[in-house]
Amino acid sequence: MSRKYWVIIVLVLLTLPITGCSPITDQGGGGPWKPKPLWLTDGFDFPVGNPDGKGWAVTGYAFLSWSSYSNSYHPGEDWNIPGAGNGDHGEPVYAVANGEVVFSGWNSALGHVILIKHAISSEDFVWSQYAHLDERWVSKGELVTRRQPIGTVGRGPNNRFAAHLHFEMRKEELPANAWPRTNGVAWERSRVTDYWLDPTAFINQNRPH
Ligand SMILES: [Zn+2]
Repeated sequence: MSRKYWVIIVLVLLTLPITGCSPITDQGGGGPWKPKPLWLTDGFDFPVGNPDGKGWAVTGYAFLSWSSYSNSYHPGEDWNIPGAGNGDHGEPVYAVANGEVVFSGWNSALGHVILIKHAISSEDFVWSQYAHLDERWVSKGELVTRRQPIGTVGRGPNNRFAAHLHFEMRKEELPANAWPRTNGVAWERSRVTDYWLDPTAFINQNRPH
């Protein structure tokens, strides 16, 4: 190889650290992979009503109440404006925290569903799921911020339910629309709590400062 080529190679090698063209250095120091800044949470709000949930209440199935309709322990909370009947149909639903939409779509049992993944640290995640929606305003892959309107309260497939928000918080990764039942047999309560969180308790323990 001629000397001219060696000079070019040396120059290219010298330029690499200066331009930082290695993608690894863009991650900020070569540590473990970090979520995008927006994805980190700064606290949790309630998904309907005021940030503290005021004006709304869990008047339908509560967390872990037995649901004979679905033959299972209810893995979330059914939120309503008390006494409104279907008057809460079309009310806004908010992302409870910063996160990334990992599912936004239709399910034959739950209707329109949104699932959001939240990083509570660079290694710890929780998920929030919003079901029976009338409208969905975000799509898979989108980053959302706490309190961002993501859709509206609906009635589920073919208006199967009185209008309410079915809301879940999960501490383990599960497919969207997962339900604590296998081949028609309900999971034990203790198994449900291995995967799902009590939404109100979790949010109250993690309010923004
Ligand atoms: Zn429900």
